[in-house]
Amino acid sequence: MNFYVLTLFPDMIRSGFRTSITGRAMEKGILSMEAIDIRGFSVNKHNRVDDYPYGGGAGMVMQAEPVYLAYESVASRIGKKSRVLYMSPQGRVFNQCMAEELAQEEELIFLCGHYEGIDERVLEEIVTDEISVGDYVLTGGELPALVIMDAVSRLLDGVLHNEESAEFDSFHDNLLEYPQYSRPEEWRGKKVPPILLSGHHMNVEKWRREQSLLRTKERRPDLLAQASLTKEDKKFLANLEEL
Ligand code: SAM
Repeated sequence: MNFYVLTLFPDMIRSGFRTSITGRAMEKGILSMEAIDIRGFSVNKHNRVDDYPYGGGAGMVMQAEPVYLAYESVASRIGKKSRVLYMSPQGRVFNQCMAEELAQEEELIFLCGHYEGIDERVLEEIVTDEISVGDYVLTGGELPALVIMDAVSRLLDGVLHNEESAEFDSFHDNLLEYPQYSRPEEWRGKKVPPILLSGHHMNVEKWRREQSLLRTKERRPDLLAQASLTKEDKKFLANLEEL
């Protein structure tokens, strides 16, 4: 997977992505990330890339041409049509299912806005997907791009170690993950659930599944409707209703 990020703040992207698991994956050559400075494509002698909005109003708007030139500099190197994801509070709200879908691509181009956003005409020209990270407004698209790159990266083969597998994470299969415990067995009077110390693999699996169902029902009942539930799962949930 190759990520390209069109941004006015490339250092923010580089320092955010080079840390921890994603940094390790880059060192291993599983993925690459290039942050492209849109300011380097300014067509203004003062290096400006923003201007006042037509029609008036507060703030500045990123101009179309520098964004387009920055995009072209990447697209011409890739040599084929790639998805261009514009980070935008007006987009489809990102979720695990979208991360799984994006992880199938060979490359992804991220476009980060700033100020009041980007001239609509260049968005119409180059953007294939408009994606939001939630119903709130941030100062720029850099944090959303990092969020999405992180969620996509950890789904790629070889990025996580076996022991960090994404298979049972929350949202996989539309269920939240069961609670996790580590040493010591007793911490400030609170004990680890005895079943986890039993060494009985099947009972542990059953307990974890039930905890997943319980948590999802309590915290995100909206997810349950899309989860693939077995007969035993449904029976467990029905028993909870009766309690
Ligand atoms: N005026 C725009 C509007 O009301 O839709 C908001 C612009 S925002 C201050 C500046 C940039 O931050 C946007 O162009 C976008 O790239 C990014 N951004 C802000 N909130 C976001 C969100 N929830 N998800 C994704 N990107 C966001």
